Amino acid sequence: MRRDIPFSSLESAVHEAYEECKTITGGHNADYIPYLAGIDPNLFGIAVCLPDGRMVCVGDTDYRFGIESVSKVHTAILALRQLGPEILLEKIGADATGLSFDSIMALMLEMDHPSTPLVNAGAISTCSLVEPVGSSEAKWKAIVDNITDLCGSKPELIEELYQSESATNFTNRAIAWLLRDYTRIYDDPMMSLDLYTRQCSLGVTAKQLAVSAATIADDGKNPLTKEQVFDPSLSPQIVSLIATVGFYQKSGDWLYRAGIPAKTGVGGAVMGIMPGVFGVCAFAPPLDSAGNSVKAQAAIKKLMNLLSINVFSNTHYEVV
Ligand code: GLN
Repeated sequence: MRRDIPFSSLESAVHEAYEECKTITGGHNADYIPYLAGIDPNLFGIAVCLPDGRMVCVGDTDYRFGIESVSKVHTAILALRQLGPEILLEKIGADATGLSFDSIMALMLEMDHPSTPLVNAGAISTCSLVEPVGSSEAKWKAIVDNITDLCGSKPELIEELYQSESATNFTNRAIAWLLRDYTRIYDDPMMSLDLYTRQCSLGVTAKQLAVSAATIADDGKNPLTKEQVFDPSLSPQIVSLIATVGFYQKSGDWLYRAGIPAKTGVGGAVMGIMPGVFGVCAFAPPLDSAGNSVKAQAAIKKLMNLLSINVFSNTHYEVV
């Protein structure tokens, strides 16, 4: 079945989702990273981007926040671009852990495998895989250039967040050394951890993440720059990684309710990919117990429900 969605219906749905969700009060800012505890909890925005570059934005969509774990998607794409899907599967994996994003237990249970690039262990390991191995500076350039390609504009390091996170990332340090013990890290562990911490501290806007989501939704073609960022054959792998573990231990509940593969970050972002239809990013700092933004997930779920779109439905949607 095919269903056309008028652009005006998309616009009204985004505004309605925003109005309905802006008064939601649940959740708390991440406070294990001191910088994030101080961000205004009332910030809230939703941005949707279509493959043809049209956008619908409401609220704080130009505010620069910490990309945090959403960056795991971008750097997984970089590793896929550089090394291809088989190496990523063999060296990292593509499975859910069913546990929190920084779970040491998950890593211990799967000592032969970090599971997925979308939890901390796998993301640190992915940074170690990024080429050229051995050069922190060149790897960092590759990571930032790749995020720029996907977003269509540059992210900017939030230096204060980077310092705050570097000073308090004890669990991630333990993870990096465990990976070393299990021979699941492929470059210097502390350098890989530093790259991971820095990429998490990049500042982006909801608009930028909506553009990168639309790039993934359109098989790697950036809707703004029109650049083919990654090979279209990689799209299903990227979206499957996101669907499997984008909300960590809540991933199944999320997909069941909202029907869109999405990735969260403790900075408050939720980035959703509706293949062939649109990319979306909602942003609001207060998080639930799994570290997923309360308001942002409510807003995207509301939007999907208002539009009656679901990735698992037997319908081909097109915004016209
Ligand atoms: N940088 C954060 C951390 O390592 C990212 C976590 C997240 O966004 N879920 O803890």
